[in-house]
Amino acid sequence: MNKRYLMALDQGTTSSRAILFTFEGAMIASASLEFTQHYPRPGWVEHDPADILNTQIESMRAVVRKAGIDPEEIAAIGITNQRETTLLWDKRTGQVLHNAIVWQCRRTAEQVDRLIQDGLAPMVREKTGLVPDAYFSGTKIRWLLDHLTLQEKAQNGNICFGTVDTFLVWNLVEKHPFVTDATNASRTMLFNLHTQDWDDDLLHMLNIPKAMLPRIADSTEVVGMLRKDILGASIPVAAIAGDQHAALFGQACFEEGMVKNTYGTGCFMLMNIGEQFRLSQSNLITTMAWRIQGKPVYAFEGSVFMGGATLQWLRDELKLIGSSPESEQIAKGVPSTGGVYLVPAFTGLGAPYWDMYARGTLVGMTRGTSGAHIVRAALESIAYQSADLFDAMGRDAGISNPVLRVDGGASANRFLMQFQADILNAKVQRPAVTETTGLGVALMAGLSLGIYSDLQDTARSWHVQETFLPQMNEAARLPLLKGWHKAVAAAQFWAKED
Ligand code: ADP
Repeated sequence: MNKRYLMALDQGTTSSRAILFTFEGAMIASASLEFTQHYPRPGWVEHDPADILNTQIESMRAVVRKAGIDPEEIAAIGITNQRETTLLWDKRTGQVLHNAIVWQCRRTAEQVDRLIQDGLAPMVREKTGLVPDAYFSGTKIRWLLDHLTLQEKAQNGNICFGTVDTFLVWNLVEKHPFVTDATNASRTMLFNLHTQDWDDDLLHMLNIPKAMLPRIADSTEVVGMLRKDILGASIPVAAIAGDQHAALFGQACFEEGMVKNTYGTGCFMLMNIGEQFRLSQSNLITTMAWRIQGKPVYAFEGSVFMGGATLQWLRDELKLIGSSPESEQIAKGVPSTGGVYLVPAFTGLGAPYWDMYARGTLVGMTRGTSGAHIVRAALESIAYQSADLFDAMGRDAGISNPVLRVDGGASANRFLMQFQADILNAKVQRPAVTETTGLGVALMAGLSLGIYSDLQDTARSWHVQETFLPQMNEAARLPLLKGWHKAVAAAQFWAKED
């Protein structure tokens, strides 16, 4: 049977998806199933592992049915996943021991505060590239071992820890391989970016037995064959990567300095910083981009807390728009914001400001300010926040980049993309396939099987759909940026203690 397709499994926070691509990177079908979020206490978030597994398997079957293909035509499968989410299971029986603790879950925040008070943050940062946070898997494992009194069993090698990729491979692949990849490992706070292995000091810091940790594979590695009962065919599972890393790959950001930004609820920006480990001065995270044939490539990562969610706020709370896409026409209806800036620091500001106390601010209003000005200011705020990240990344990496590649729901907004290009004074490229997470891990699987000969060859499967060229001159751009930074200062000043 001719092999023609690559399948991506995209196990996300709210849904599991399966997507089929041709070798040329065209998406031919996708299927997605949502599952229940569990909030056992305020700030706690869990998933039922059976839901994760069942929705993933059913979405695979659904996409094959929908596309009307023979599963034998699938050359390889890649797995990409919500990162940091933590599971434990019994090595002998495979039985999971607790609900998955989701990345968003804050239950270990105090434990992290204690690590910081004990002066351990610099060591964590130097070894892992991370800023200690409850978000990462390490303290979640500690919580589970304590809560379920499993320390001894774990020490004896009877317990498996896995992020979602490891859990899926264990359950979907023949002979239960116990494996993760370097990108997922880099989100545990236990992985040393320099040695590319689990780190004894970090394990000691959290008293986590090494015996419970999976082998760390390259992102492009055949880890085994899909169980035949799932699709009726035996297919190599040939790549694993966390979702943001896969998206960077799916945007073909293969050269040092290339950046992608995903405009979803929040924005996630990653820059390929090459083969040399670096720490950012702006407290951006250093993480794996991917590891191919044993060679690590690193990335800077930063996020904007309020991206598309700012539009949801305009829709649901201020009722200034009926839907997020409507914002485009409304914003274009006025020539500028008329001096209005919205700083949507509703939950503080991330990199490069790192001010958890800053609060939302609307400045510069006059008697003539209308709803349209505010809608426009909201869209522009997404671009300004992304520009702050982009500039910090370039500065900290010592690499200036003339191009930004974009994806995610709000990248459909042409006003926003043009303003982004203008304010960055850089070219913004939106690809034909904006499912870059799925595409990325599918391409990794293709590379791993030799369907693509190298990264250059892989990059041929990335196609630009629309390019936004910067059109604003410096005389217009610099005062706008100055105004934005003054507005940010106002948001920070407002929240300062008297
Ligand atoms: P997530 O994966 O975080 O759920 P998506 O990539 O699905 O996000 O994008 C959804 C977000 O994008 C929402 O916050 C929504 O407000 C925003 N969005 C969707 N379409 C548009 C648009 N045309 N203009 C501006 N924002 C949009």
